[in-house]
Amino acid sequence: MSRLINFSPGPATLPLSVLEEVQSELVDYHGSGISMLEHSHRGKEYSAVHEETTALVKELLSVPDTHDVLFMQGGATGQFALVPMNFLGGASADYVDTGAWSKKAFKAASCYGAPRWAGSGKEGEGYVRAPKDLDLKDDAAYVHLTSNATIAGVQFHEFPETKAPLVADMSSDILWRPIDVSKFGLIYAGAQKNLGPAGVTVVIVRKDWMEKGAQDIPDIFRYGFISEKGSTQNTPPTFPIYVMGKVLKWVKDQGGAAAMEKQNRAKADALYGVVDAHDGFYRCPVEKGSRSVMNAVFNLPTEELEKKFIADAAEAGMVNTKGHRSVGGIRISMYNAMSLENVEKLTTFMKDFVAKNG
Ligand SMILES: *Cc1c(COP(=O)(O)O)cnc(C)c1O
Repeated sequence: MSRLINFSPGPATLPLSVLEEVQSELVDYHGSGISMLEHSHRGKEYSAVHEETTALVKELLSVPDTHDVLFMQGGATGQFALVPMNFLGGASADYVDTGAWSKKAFKAASCYGAPRWAGSGKEGEGYVRAPKDLDLKDDAAYVHLTSNATIAGVQFHEFPETKAPLVADMSSDILWRPIDVSKFGLIYAGAQKNLGPAGVTVVIVRKDWMEKGAQDIPDIFRYGFISEKGSTQNTPPTFPIYVMGKVLKWVKDQGGAAAMEKQNRAKADALYGVVDAHDGFYRCPVEKGSRSVMNAVFNLPTEELEKKFIADAAEAGMVNTKGHRSVGGIRISMYNAMSLENVEKLTTFMKDFVAKNG
């Protein structure tokens, strides 16, 4: 078997041990005679998986009793619409601009009220950053930010103190380190980057705020309803939740969120270290204090060299190193499941590449 090293931004690499476990259980789940793909979402086998996965999210992120964990569908993009549908109600909310994803969230909010931009990562002067100074209104319905801008490679390393409930799209960095969930009104994340396969979206919501949300919307879009029904109001994405549960167990076995942080920082230090050591050749457009630990973006001197880099890396077994089509360059995604060893293979390749082409 030859596994490639996959630096994809999402769906992203999964721990090999998880894939192998899923494979071994696929046809006959725990001697039940049928696959987890075929089990009823109300049966005892799936119910146990659902409960265990919910408990693991709570444990690994230290979710307090004030907050509820929901499993939903529709991706983070669905949440762009559901957050304002539940909480905007014609009012104004403060959105923080860190590029493409936050702009999409803003656009969806415009259908339900009047979002306003409350801060922006500085772009167009040779670098970008996570906005530190925000222009917040006390009476905003909520403040929305993207904790890790997957395309621009910009990440918040500290969160603002806000009067209004803080909502974060953590699709590409949830569980990269411990966080204080009590600071947030709502957190959402598609699983396919840092938590598991595509198909399930994790939502963590403060219960008292959830209860104040809109009641005059269809039940299936109402957080309060999903919560009452334990995310089994209709058929949940059983298989993605099952695989996510295995990824969470893997994270727990590695030592949990604190161990992830240590490992993630070591990977980012290794990668940015090589970028900065060859700054005439590799150039990261993101200000140092805002660089993403999850998605490192950088450029080479010419587009031709970038193409060669991507092709040579693929030749060496390292795939999906191409930057997002809207910005070009190189993007290396290093979520929890990417090992330090594999990042070090890439940094060795990067040093060789400079030696040959610099
Ligand atoms: C990938 C991504 C999304 C989109 O997620 P979907 O699950 O495909 O809707 C939204 N926000 C961020 C920050 C992302 O990285």
